[in-house]
Amino acid sequence: MLVHGDVRGREALVRLHSECLTGDAFGSRHCECGEQLSAALKAIAAEGRGVLVYLRGHEGRGIGLLAKLEAMKLQSEGLDTVEANLALGLPADARDYKVAADVLHDLQVRSARLLSNNPRKREALLRHGVEVSEQVPLLMPPHQENLPYLLTKRDRMDHYLPHLDAVVQRT
Ligand SMILES: [Zn+2]
Repeated sequence: MLVHGDVRGREALVRLHSECLTGDAFGSRHCECGEQLSAALKAIAAEGRGVLVYLRGHEGRGIGLLAKLEAMKLQSEGLDTVEANLALGLPADARDYKVAADVLHDLQVRSARLLSNNPRKREALLRHGVEVSEQVPLLMPPHQENLPYLLTKRDRMDHYLPHLDAVVQRT
């Protein structure tokens, strides 16, 4: 967890970042996690206050690193990221955000401006008693390797990714 400035009270910028070893540490272009991590840190630094909760155990949307690597292999064979998890007998998204909500409560964050494109993160925080005053999109320019992955997030997981429309029309 990384806290910058005084985050108590209202309107703190918050990023709940799901651990992604391949994206965060190795800069894999299969997903956009590493780019989102940098963008979130930059936004928090520019704002002068905010918190980044780095969620261990969220690899592959909660299925674990080894299963994620298997899922990535299935994706290279043509399944999308949701189908790959399901093909392994695992949930499409097994992430839990209670720990994140507990951290925000401990930090006395009364409302969050959530840096995320994922409506489920917002819903999860609300469910755990953290008010979300705004959802602040983190729209990373897509590239060829992660476009299918991003489209699946948009089409099958309701992520807010309006900037993909222009790219898809061009291809
Ligand atoms: Zn990732």
